[in-house]
Amino acid sequence: MAEITKTKIIELERAKADALFSSIGEGALATDERGIIQRVNQVALDLLGYQEDEVVGGWYPKAITATDGNGKPLGVMERPITEAFFTGHPVSTKTYYRRKDGSELPLASTVSPILLEGKPIGAIEVFRDISLELAVDKMKSEFIGLASHQLRTPLSAISIYAHMLQDGYAGPLNDQQMEYVTTTVGATARMQALINALLNISRIESGQLAFRPEPIELPTILDEVLAELKPQIKQKQLRIIRRIPEELPRLTTDSLMIKEILANLVTNAIQYTPPKGRISVSIAVKASELVVTVKDNGIGIPASKQTRLFSPFYRAENALEYFEAGTGLGLYLVKLLVEVLGGKVWFMSKEGRGSAFSVALPLEGKVKVSS
Ligand code: ADP
Repeated sequence: MAEITKTKIIELERAKADALFSSIGEGALATDERGIIQRVNQVALDLLGYQEDEVVGGWYPKAITATDGNGKPLGVMERPITEAFFTGHPVSTKTYYRRKDGSELPLASTVSPILLEGKPIGAIEVFRDISLELAVDKMKSEFIGLASHQLRTPLSAISIYAHMLQDGYAGPLNDQQMEYVTTTVGATARMQALINALLNISRIESGQLAFRPEPIELPTILDEVLAELKPQIKQKQLRIIRRIPEELPRLTTDSLMIKEILANLVTNAIQYTPPKGRISVSIAVKASELVVTVKDNGIGIPASKQTRLFSPFYRAENALEYFEAGTGLGLYLVKLLVEVLGGKVWFMSKEGRGSAFSVALPLEGKVKVSS
């Protein structure tokens, strides 16, 4: 009697799990500990165009091909399910699956390992189609790009004429006129910086910025950036400390993108460090990466504001007070570019003490596909 009850309970639990699995409104598949697909729901089959018997029983990397979004299949080790197996933690990521008809489907996927006494005995992946979201995002970025581009021409006319007035081309100005014109020149420069940042961001977000890898010398690019920013460094009487090893491996990556990243980090260090402060730039070799760090002894970032720093338009209050004219887009741009280069960016900071921003770049630059 007790046995029957136990079997019934197991059956009941299985029926509940079956019902739950098939009623999930998103695609779902489950594997055992070897990665063999045990079940797949109807939403997943409809999304991928397969019949149940074409995937169930197959090893997941063979049964369903994941790609980088440009047709290139991902290796087993690059698949989110594998990561969940190895780490024992849930993994959420953007990925692409190849449908039976060969087309690629962009997905937001979450894989949860099924753990028994701490060991993975299988995994469940839940995924949803994000093609519409991506298309809307692309349209939004293209619109911002177009609008920024259109704004540039009239804005340069305003800037040129304001500078001409300031320089006395239309005759001498009295103090009040000079004050108004100087304000116009400053505001125009800020708007130009904002528009340029928006244009760059929209190019990256809509995939228009081509990644052109070439062998580069990182110290040379860093020195170019420092040379271009010399007037600001001199004006604030900042001391630059350069810690760069004599021998460094070459990077194969996009030089323009690297320059933009470094220019943003060094500009921030200059902006947020009081006069006579110190900025150090260093490069270190770590395994197959080069790590560039830009460190300052400036105003720092309040601990409570640190999590949002890479969000667009975000500026911490102490920075707003110290330097009014920022856009809040520089670090967001840095984050996007570092992702394109397959690197990482992070920082450490203490309010009132200073900040250190680091970027790790793979020696062989590659385009990161899943984020
Ligand atoms: P912006 O500098 O134009 O405001 P960013 O996106 O470059 O925009 O930076 C976002 C915010 O991060 C800044 O407003 C500031 O609060 C903080 N920040 C960035 N770099 C530094 C730095 N070196 N020292 C202190 N705060 C910084």
